[in-house]
Amino acid sequence: MTSATSTVPTTNETPEAGETTAGNYFVSNYPPFHFWDPGTARHLGELLSKPAEPLTPLGVYFHIPFCRKRCHFCYFRVYTERNASEIQRYLDAGIAELKRYAATPFVAGRLPRFVYFGGGTPSYLSVAQLKSLSDRMKEILPWEQAEEVTFEAEPGTLNEGKLKAIRELGVTRLSLGVENFDSHILEINGRAHRADEIHRAYGAARAAGFPQINIDLISGMVEETEENWRENVRKLIELEPDCVTIYQMEVPYNTGIFKQMKAEGKLVAPVANWATKRAWTGYAFAELEKAGYTVTSGYTAVRNPERTKFVYRDSLWKGADLIGAGVSAFSHLGGVHFQNITEIEQYIETTERGEFPVLRAMATTPEERMIRELILQMKLGRVSAEYFKQKFSEDIIVRFNLQWNDLIAQGLGLWNGAFFELTREALLKVDSLLHAFFLPQHQNSRYV
Ligand code: SF4
Repeated sequence: MTSATSTVPTTNETPEAGETTAGNYFVSNYPPFHFWDPGTARHLGELLSKPAEPLTPLGVYFHIPFCRKRCHFCYFRVYTERNASEIQRYLDAGIAELKRYAATPFVAGRLPRFVYFGGGTPSYLSVAQLKSLSDRMKEILPWEQAEEVTFEAEPGTLNEGKLKAIRELGVTRLSLGVENFDSHILEINGRAHRADEIHRAYGAARAAGFPQINIDLISGMVEETEENWRENVRKLIELEPDCVTIYQMEVPYNTGIFKQMKAEGKLVAPVANWATKRAWTGYAFAELEKAGYTVTSGYTAVRNPERTKFVYRDSLWKGADLIGAGVSAFSHLGGVHFQNITEIEQYIETTERGEFPVLRAMATTPEERMIRELILQMKLGRVSAEYFKQKFSEDIIVRFNLQWNDLIAQGLGLWNGAFFELTREALLKVDSLLHAFFLPQHQNSRYV
């Protein structure tokens, strides 16, 4: 992934306004990963032997785990020194995995509504590798009619030729992992690209004619200052991207930053505290709004909400099926969560044996699916009681009365007709507000 996203908290302690200590706080799924197990994964074949629920949208995610170098804040398993034949073997395994899914009654005949190339760094691949990969994927699951094809890119891996090729694959949204516009901050955080590469890549991406260009930033990187953050926001707005995604820096246990903290015996990470990171994100949102943008979630702002949609995010947050191909990729099929094997050699070997490379899974109950959608949709800042009544026959107003009242008492939200709306303050710390909606058995759980 070109920026720090995904995964969930280590505990349900909220990082309120305190210092940044080690752990994941971002809630990306429910129930917590701790409850997923290898036993359930064995039932994948059975699930896939029957057709899917009619009209359930299908998406495809392809994971590219390669990067030029490892960022100090990265908590993914990424591979930095792989040669072309090793990469080819990995891509072949991903294609074999997709083929296996496409041949099942659950997937056969379905066309993807959205496609997502994530990582790692998808733009690390050469033009020839990208063309061959997408041609083979389209033969298996044609995506010509997909509403959205997203591609994550690291600015330093892009040039005019590669951008033209990426656009020709049918990519509709290019997501640029900029993170910061200051070369020194990029360097001190272990990022591979520098400021001049951002501007070169952005100009070339515009010239290539992508319908949407997204810029990712991280508030609170090591050595970030108030002054530099304001400069980041100014430069961001000057570029006029179609959408902006801002993450608040977290320091999970398997990052370079945490290893250094441990070696130095430090409990507090050398980054801004949570109140500061939220204030910086709030400042960015306010400046973006002044420039005509609309804030559409706790992390995103878009220039034109009518035109700029997030099909991938919104479909998943409303229970779409997702086939995640590649090492450690996540899938969600027929209400069952799956995660693939997280080590590349093992992933490839399992796939080459003709098996599904699934590590662990969890079959969710309708109640868990309802809560999953509720907490994910809260990240949009607005949830509809009617939606949950229609889809799950659940009156969320009554069911979560205590939780709503608590938010209202803290001035963090209000019912506006049949919609619960979070305030901006709540939206900026939305991940810390979601645990209250978990089932009791999932409270205080450790995410691994
Ligand atoms: S190493 Fe950096 S670019 Fe690669 S996945 Fe991690 S955060 Fe993204």
